[in-house]
Order: sequence, then C-alpha cells, then structure tokens
Amino acid sequence: MNALTEPQKPTAAEADALRAAIVRKLTYDLGKSQAGARDRDWFMATALAVRDRIVDRWLSATRAAYETGQKQVYYLSLEFLIGRLLRDGVTNLGLTELVDEALAPLGVDFEKVRQAEPDAALGNGGLGRLAACFMESLASLGIPAFGYGIRYEHGLFRQIIRDGWQQEYPEDWLNNGNPWEYARPEISHDIGFGGAVEAVVVSEARVRHVWHPAEVVQAVAYDTPVVGWRGEHVNTLRLWSARAADPLKLDAFNYGDHLGALADRVRQESICKVLYPSDESPAGQELRLKQEYFFASAALQDLVRRHLRVYGDLKSLPDRVAIQLNDTHPAIAVPELMRICVDLHNIPWDEAWTITQGTISYTNHTLLPEALESWQVPLMERLLPRHMQIIYMINAFHLDRVRAAHPEDGRLLSSVSLIEEAHGRRVRMGHLAFVGSHKVNGVSALHTDLLKKTVFKDFHALSPDKVVNKTNGVTFRRWLQQCNPGLTGLLTETIGPRFLDDAGALAALQPFARDAAFQTKFLAVKRQNKEALASVIRASLDLRVDPEAMFDVQIKRIHEYKRQLLNVLETVALYDAIRSQPTRNWVPRVKIFAGKAAASYHRAKLIIKLAHDVARVVNSDPTVRNLLKVAFLPNYNVSLAEVIVPAADLSEQISTAGMEASGTGNMKLGLNGALTIGTLDGANVEMLEQVGPENIHIFGMTTEEVAARRHEGLQGAHAIEASPRLSEVLEAIGSGVFSPDDRHRYRDLVEALRGSDYFMVAADFDAYYDSQREVDARWASSAGWQQAAILNTASMGWFSSDRTIREYAEDIWNVPVR
Ligand SMILES: *Cc1c(COP(=O)(O)O)cnc(C)c1O
Repeated sequence: MNALTEPQKPTAAEADALRAAIVRKLTYDLGKSQAGARDRDWFMATALAVRDRIVDRWLSATRAAYETGQKQVYYLSLEFLIGRLLRDGVTNLGLTELVDEALAPLGVDFEKVRQAEPDAALGNGGLGRLAACFMESLASLGIPAFGYGIRYEHGLFRQIIRDGWQQEYPEDWLNNGNPWEYARPEISHDIGFGGAVEAVVVSEARVRHVWHPAEVVQAVAYDTPVVGWRGEHVNTLRLWSARAADPLKLDAFNYGDHLGALADRVRQESICKVLYPSDESPAGQELRLKQEYFFASAALQDLVRRHLRVYGDLKSLPDRVAIQLNDTHPAIAVPELMRICVDLHNIPWDEAWTITQGTISYTNHTLLPEALESWQVPLMERLLPRHMQIIYMINAFHLDRVRAAHPEDGRLLSSVSLIEEAHGRRVRMGHLAFVGSHKVNGVSALHTDLLKKTVFKDFHALSPDKVVNKTNGVTFRRWLQQCNPGLTGLLTETIGPRFLDDAGALAALQPFARDAAFQTKFLAVKRQNKEALASVIRASLDLRVDPEAMFDVQIKRIHEYKRQLLNVLETVALYDAIRSQPTRNWVPRVKIFAGKAAASYHRAKLIIKLAHDVARVVNSDPTVRNLLKVAFLPNYNVSLAEVIVPAADLSEQISTAGMEASGTGNMKLGLNGALTIGTLDGANVEMLEQVGPENIHIFGMTTEEVAARRHEGLQGAHAIEASPRLSEVLEAIGSGVFSPDDRHRYRDLVEALRGSDYFMVAADFDAYYDSQREVDARWASSAGWQQAAILNTASMGWFSSDRTIREYAEDIWNVPVR
C-alpha cells in the first residue's frame, strides 16, 4: 500500500462480505440470533471478524522475523494500560468506513458497539500507558517485538465516588470473554519458588548449582496481536497467567476436605489475580515479588527457548535479542538470565555476564525515594534462594571492580552496593538493574539529568556512558486520529495526510495559526468535542456545564506531588474573587478533574473528598452562575481520557518541580490543542522548547529553587502570611466552610501546608494564581487563544512515541527501523 494514499472508499461488496463475517461470528461463535443480540454481542462478533483480518498478517510477520533472523525486542513490563482495542484495530487496518457500512444495515451503531468493549486497565497510570503506546509504535515502525506482562484477572480497581469519598471495587474486564486474545495452553513454563540450592561438585575447579524449588507454578501464554499503523506489521503482546501444576488434591477431596483440596491451587493461581494498585510506591508484599519473578522468568524462558531453537547457543543472544526493563519491576531478570546461562547451560560466569549486560537495558521512571524498589534479603533468600546467591556474586564482582578503581573509598562502596545495609538488609533493585544493563535511561531531559545528579550519581561517575535520555512519547494513532476524528479530518484537509505517517509533518500547520478561517474551523472542532464531554459530565454527575466556558483539565493519578490540591485551592480563591466582585468580566471556567488514588493513600483520598466538597458548594451557589463549575469525573481510565483530551482548552501540568519524571498526559493534551499551564518539570521543559514561551504558561519554582527551599527548611507559613488570598482560602477550608458536616476534616491537610509544605503548594500558590489570570487574559482574545492552541498542535510532532522508539532502536537496542 502506498503510505500516503488514503484508504480507498469501500465497495458495497466489501461491506457485504464484512457484514456476513460479523453475522457468522454472532451466530456460530457466540450462538446468538441477530434479534437477541445486545451491544456487547455485536462487539464480540465485530471484534472477532476484525481479528480474522489481523491473523494472516500476524502469522506472516512473526514467521518473517524468524526467517530473516532480525533482532527481536522484548519489552518487559508489569503493566500494560491498553484500554479498548477495537477502534485501534479498525483504524490501523483502515477499516473505519467499511465497519460502519457493514453494521449500519443491521441497525447497529459502531459507536455503541465500540463502547461495549471493556477497558483493559492492566496498569496504574503513565508507566503502563507508556508500555501500551510503545507496543503500538513498535508495530507501526515494523520492529519485531514481544511485550511480556501478566494477564491480571482483575485490572486496576474501579473507582466509585460515594459522598465524595473514593471506594475501590474489583474490575472484571474478562467476565464476558476477551475476543482479542489467543490462549496458548501448550506454551507454558515452570516457575519455581522457595526450596534449596544443591552444590554439585563437577570437578576440582567447578561446582554446579542445582535449585530444587519447593513449589512450581506454571506460566501459561495468552497472546494478543498488536497491529501497527496501516496494518503493515503485527507484533505480539504475550501475557502470562498462572496455572497450578496440580489442580486438585484428589485424596483430600475424596475425604471430604473440599476447600483443603483446592488450597494450593488457589494460592498459586492468586499470582495473576490482581494488579497492585500502588502507583508510586512498592506494594511491599511477598505476592508482588512473586508476580515480578513469575513474569520475568516466564519471559526469559520463552525468549531463550525461541533463540536456542534458531541459533543453538546463547552466545549470540545480545546480537539477536534486546530486553528492555520497564522500571525495576522486572529487574529480577538480571540474576534469572545469569542462572539460565550458568546453571542450565554451563556457560562460564564472565561470559554469562557479557551476555546479560549486552542484552538487557533498563528504564528508570521515578526519583521518588519511596518508589525505589528494594526487597528484604531474608524474603529473597526464602523465595528465590539461588537468585540471592547470584545477586551476592554479581555484587562481589561489581564491588571488586569499584574497589580496584577507587581503593579505600568506603562511602562509594556502600553507596553503589546492591545490598542496602542500613535498615535491615535489602536488595536494591535499581542498582541491580543498573549493573546488569548496558544502557539505563531516564524519560525526559530533566529527569535524566537528575538521575545523573542524584540517585545514580555515583554509578554515573563509574560508567559515564551508560545513562542516556529517551523522552517519552504517545502514539498519535490513539491520541489524535482515533480519539479526535474531527481534528484529524480538519488537519488532513488543511495540510494533507502526511502527518498520519510522519508526526513531524504537523509543523506544516504553523502558517495556518493566524489564518482566521482556519481558526474558526479549529474552534468548531473543539466546540463539538466539548459538547460531547459536556454530555458525559451531565450523564455522569447530573451537572450542566457550558461548552462556551474554558475547559480546564487535570486528569492523572491523584498524588501530592502532582498537586491537585494546588488546583483546588486556586478554585476556591477564584470562587472567593467571583463572589466579592460578581459583576467583573470573569472568564467562565469548568474545572475538570479525574484520577484514582492508591487505595492506601489516605491523603490523596482526602484531596478527592475536598474536590467534591468544593464542587458541591461552588456548583450550587447562584452568585457564581455559570462562571465557575467543578466536575470530578469518576473512574479515570484510558477510555475516559479519550473523551476528555480532545475537549480540553487548558492542560494542568503543575507538579512540584523535579518530581514528575516526564508526564505523557501533557503531550496528549497539547497535541489536541490545549494550552499548558505548568511547572518546569518533566517533559514540560521540552514542550516549552517545542512550542516557544509565548504559547505555554510556565510558572513557579524551579527544581533548584525547590531543593534550596527544602534545604533551608522554610515553613509554608511564610508563604501563607505573605499571601492574603491564600490565607483566606486556607482559613475557609481549615475551619470547615466546605465541610459543615465535619469541620475538622481538613485541619491536618492545612496544617501540613503551614508546616514543611514539602510539595511547595503554599510556596507556589501566588505564582500559580497569577499565571491563571494570564490564562484568563489570553482567553479574552479568542484569536490569540486559537493561534496558541493551533501552534500547540503544530508543535507536538516530536512527542510521538514513534520518535521515542526510533531513539531506543538506534541508541539502546541496535535494531534497524524501516
Ligand atoms: C496518559 C495517561 C496517564 C498519564 O498521565 P500523566 O498526566 O502523565 O500522569 C495516566 N492514566 C491514563 C489513563 C492515561 O491515559
């Protein structure tokens, strides 16, 4: 297919053929009649028919990768936040019109069918969504790749808001079956836990270690095809499910102990029951470590078997395989690959180490100290005794090398050791991943710079070429073409279809930014998307919002460092200002929030409650009329993001400087023509470079200023005393104006701001408030706003995950890109 031609208009015969295929699936695969079929049956039937069109390409792409001996990329991630897949498959195959025309005569609306698909939330937030965007870009760039993860039976919890409080309910995305996956019961690997290690003396010079696990669980493969843009290449997302080797203790069952007979099975299969709902901090649970080893080991056994079948030995592994660790969750892959080489394939240690380092690389996602994974040595010894031995060996050789270069530097040795000795002995997974990799990357320029200066400072001094930057990106197929067909159509009509294949071509939009006729069309698209969101808000919250108002959006996990609290405080300040001067020409705003808090993160849940308390007061106050509305949409997930992102005017990216590794929500929103109000944090810094300072609202303290202020130990009370506006806001919230049912609800929250103000909410408040008023001023000139919005869309090409993946391919994986 010519990459630049539009898909041909479907013929009636093609539509008839697809319709017949869908009806066949409905009848023979689902056993339903057309009359009795519900939306989700039509979804299943349509998905199965679309899947048929993927399979041939999938099988041939997989075979071609084998036959040509191309290097394979393996992306190991505990999370894949993929969301719905039907529209992804349909657009990437160029079938959008055809599916519409196939379904219409059946009286079936594609949009309803699409929405009947459950949202696969196999991830917490940005890290998991990145893995999903990367899988799509890998396929679109024609790079042979597997994603490896866990097939969680229950993904991230469903968030229900009751009385303003978050409640968590299990997600059951698999209840009605999953049409995209192929179960592969014949592809399974044994995963051992516990037991003991036997040292067998082979010769005077050599001891062989044999691990006898106490327990073995099977990892069974479930494959989902991942179609690239224009359907030219298809990769595999292989998710592992746990299966007990012994399903039932028959003797116990026959004795009448029905529960006991099943106990082992239930315990073993619990490994893939739930995604840990911990965002930025390790769950600290034994089961979590089991999950990590379970999928990392299954992945390595799988890829080693595939490699050996073709090449016969493991020496060539680094030439044929690149393994990317998405954060430290799969870092146990380092000792596991060593174990496979040394214990199972008799490869000498040094050679095995060369293979391991040459194959593996690691992406760091956070600097937050509470999120740096470590495991207690006794737990590791009990669960993975052979791996613990190997980790000690790796550490011994590693420290020998350091000692040789820097004799008698005790501080350096303990700083770079894989074992933390201070608070009970623990294995530092970040250090393990660092030494086991040939490259380590951060996810934005600022983040990578901070990695070199903070958590990996000493490592960076020892291996100055190892740390590289790969700024995150998002796939434009999902985050522009699929979620915003109106804008995609307008762009195609204005600058031609080239941007569909090359995101950089969006720059061709720049000359249109001042074009009044184009501005009108751009505004009309936004308006339509805002009306769609307004009806979602009305249906979900029974709240009417005016699509004329500025849609001011903060959608992301709820976390103190992301500072939803700062946004809520500004909302209250604005509310106060409107009430005291009701006749001024205020810019009407709708403040839109969405996001989940980790179930155990009480402070974050309290912030959700505060947003609801403020919303209740503001939304029911007749003096503010339509000037201010607050909407917190429940159960934020990929599907909800796909509705909010195209409708946003203002994108809130206001994390405490130095704390957000990259952010990707910022990119999605900018791409869809939202202006950013943000701090100099994460990829906001690069967004500023791309769009220019006139088209973004940057405010607040820099990373250095935050560090200096924390170092000084300056209390938040200083900033509060200096700001009458903030004092008033905090006085109101702290004294219970928004919580008459519990006047002390927010006392501690406010006290924390008066105290250390660790996240600089008080310290940045005035700068944020002033910046918001500059946003108001820009909104007042519609042409000026449109121009900046258009330039945001025009400048986001660099944030395509295609660009990110190209950089990984060239600098880390050494694989060709077509
Ligand atoms: C993009 C995305 C994220 C990441 O958002 P940030 O603003 O970068 O934190 C989280 N969750 C979902 C559902 C997303 O689509």
